[in-house]
Amino acid sequence: MQIKNLYTKDKPVISFEIFPPKKNTPIDGVYDTIESLKDLKPGFISVTYGAGGSTARTTIELASTIKNKYRVETLAHLTCVSSTKDEIAEILETLNKNGIKNILALRGDLPSDKNFKFPDPLNYNYASDLVSQIQKHGNFCVGGAVYPEGHIECGNLNQDLQHIKNKVDAGTDFLISQLFFDNELYYDFLDKARCKGIDVPISAGILPVLSKSQMDHIIRLCGCNLPPKFTRILDKYSNKPEALKEAGVAYAIEQIIDLLSWGVDGVHLYTMNRPKTTRKIIESISSIRDAFNKEIA
Ligand code: FAD
Repeated sequence: MQIKNLYTKDKPVISFEIFPPKKNTPIDGVYDTIESLKDLKPGFISVTYGAGGSTARTTIELASTIKNKYRVETLAHLTCVSSTKDEIAEILETLNKNGIKNILALRGDLPSDKNFKFPDPLNYNYASDLVSQIQKHGNFCVGGAVYPEGHIECGNLNQDLQHIKNKVDAGTDFLISQLFFDNELYYDFLDKARCKGIDVPISAGILPVLSKSQMDHIIRLCGCNLPPKFTRILDKYSNKPEALKEAGVAYAIEQIIDLLSWGVDGVHLYTMNRPKTTRKIIESISSIRDAFNKEIA
């Protein structure tokens, strides 16, 4: 099924994100993760794509297994900045052959290695270039990324919103947000996006914080705002790993309950391939989820 149709049928759409195993790590652990996540009945499971296409084969393999073996809808991430048009065309063909109907079209981060050799000429400047190529192919439903506090390379949220609008006009059917910890900022972003005419469904990206090192990495990567009640948790429990994990999960649950009460289109959980934590979160919102399903019925 095309994911855009899930938002009219089953809103709010609860979805999960997993990543392929690191190089030289067996893939079986990820299959166990998928098996556990499937039981939580997500709307779809997305599979990330390693920088520069480093996981292309495994991303497709995992997405195909989710779809064809576990019968759960899947979303294959795909980045383009370091690829040629022919390479992307080949991947689209393989996705199509595997029955994968949904692609998250991304530019990808710019490689930090100064000696990195980009295709010459550069085939893709922005994700919108990839969206146009996928839509020409004709068989896919296309998602895109959004950043509630603005993308780190774009100094101006209003300009970033215009770029998102262009991405939607190029054929993006739905959007998934970068993680955030301040729901009020997210609601403000949604209001601005709707005012700009961005009218496709938008899922809120939520990450349960499980460790101090993970948190430091995230802040470096996306520089998102940390509200005082969240920094108090980090300060208080940064040297108590189990307490930090418990508080991080509780914080994510509180965020999700508030998002669902607000009426968001969907919640996309960055599972970090941790099915037990994901289960804890989903079980904590099961009555709320049921209430929505009854409303729809
Ligand atoms: P774009 O939409 O192209 O935007 C990139 C920057 O260019 C922004 O600052 C934007 O404002 C600007 N811009 C866009 N159009 C124009 C224009 N016409 N003129 C001037 N500026 C413009 N990375 C991975 O490597 N693998 C993954 O699997 C992955 N999954 C992700 C999933 C989600 C939900 C999110 C939010 C991010 C993910 N990323 C992933 C990270 C993503 O690749 C990076 O954030 C990347 O830097 C931007 O990708 P994008 O698709 O948002 O780019």
